[in-house]
Amino acid sequence: MRVFVLGLDCATPQLLFEKFKNDLENLPAIWSGGYHGKIRSVTPPITIPAWMCMATGKTPGELGIYGFRHRKGYSYLDYWITTYSKIKEKTVWDILGEKGMKSVIVGFPPTYPPRKLNGYMVSDFVTPDIQSRFTYPPELREEVLSVNNGEYIFDIVYRTEQKDKMKRELWKMTDMQFKVVEHLMKTKEWNLFWYVNIGIDRVHHAFWRYMDKEHHLYEEGNPYENVIYEYYKYVDEWTGRILSHLKDDDTVIVVSDHGAKRMKGAFCINEYLIEKGYLKLKKYPDSVTDLNNEIVDWKNTYAWGWGGYYSRVFLNVEGRERMGIIKPEEYEDFARELIKELQNVRGPEGEEWKSMVALPEEIYSTVNGEPPDIMAFFDDLYWRAAGTVGHNRMYLEENDKGPDDAVHDWYGIYASSDKELVAENITEIRDIILRAFGMEVIE
Ligand SMILES: [Zn+2]
Repeated sequence: MRVFVLGLDCATPQLLFEKFKNDLENLPAIWSGGYHGKIRSVTPPITIPAWMCMATGKTPGELGIYGFRHRKGYSYLDYWITTYSKIKEKTVWDILGEKGMKSVIVGFPPTYPPRKLNGYMVSDFVTPDIQSRFTYPPELREEVLSVNNGEYIFDIVYRTEQKDKMKRELWKMTDMQFKVVEHLMKTKEWNLFWYVNIGIDRVHHAFWRYMDKEHHLYEEGNPYENVIYEYYKYVDEWTGRILSHLKDDDTVIVVSDHGAKRMKGAFCINEYLIEKGYLKLKKYPDSVTDLNNEIVDWKNTYAWGWGGYYSRVFLNVEGRERMGIIKPEEYEDFARELIKELQNVRGPEGEEWKSMVALPEEIYSTVNGEPPDIMAFFDDLYWRAAGTVGHNRMYLEENDKGPDDAVHDWYGIYASSDKELVAENITEIRDIILRAFGMEVIE
């Protein structure tokens, strides 16, 4: 009994199931006799934690993982990065391993540093470089490197103006990763094989404006109009090669962690908080900068925020933060008031936004780890948040972290060669895989 899962980070229903569907051959063949549809991501719909929510069947609140970065305790500026070590729940490969079944996991975010499993692991884009210990077992590293003559690429720089270079590296990375997948499929014994391709996410972020006529920066007749299409075609070709190594009774699943859509701009959360008097600077900076101790007057600050696909807002609470000023008994009212204000933020033209701003406890039934005080999703994700200050304005046409044209969307794609394996939310994927193996769904 074998299940092969092809993870396509950021693959969207609008492209895979609509716009490109007639030009793709091998991917649609997987679900032609099976099932395909859109699938709801988690909140927040971000790579980390979304893939781990699939593998563990847990929400971000249960995992205590709210993004790639987390504030360290109640400090003002210290943060930690989510690595595999921060994932405490059992993954589907852990569960299968206990039943004696073997898994091969490649590129799954975040699986660096790799942990012991019954099978093989090649870690993901969080891996620092090829010198690091990126495989389990450790001796697999040399074998993986030998597939591509001593090279391997975990990720590429995608927020760059050097579009041609980025494109070349994207194709090279994809080729190397699929070659390793192919090698492991053929040479290892496995029950579950799960590969996550990060390339679709990267091509969306780097090239969306060139494809989408509705994007505010789209230019007619630009030379990159078809790059996203070409990349989907390339992944489709590789999929054909991968499928040729499978047996007729293997189950194949294709899934993404979230979708994508055009970015309308970036909302400067801290510029907003400054204007409203919640964030106090000692001196407004002459150039764009992240918040730092030189400029922030913490003793007179009530709230500050982080940028990203959504904004995490932190409150400066007496007895909790070092220079906190909000009285603990006023915390609740303060948070409610700020939520209401953020909920009513409008766009640059005064247009209404469909925003979702809430306390973590309102989003999750269990809130573990180090959550922010407030989570703010602006205009149904069309507007990302920028955490930098010094812009002298509240709305940016571009991401403050480099050229990036796409934001994430709530719905990704799900497809299965078995029409009985239907999923509507990514947190069901763990149990879908267990069911494919005829195992009881747990908890
Ligand atoms: Zn993703």
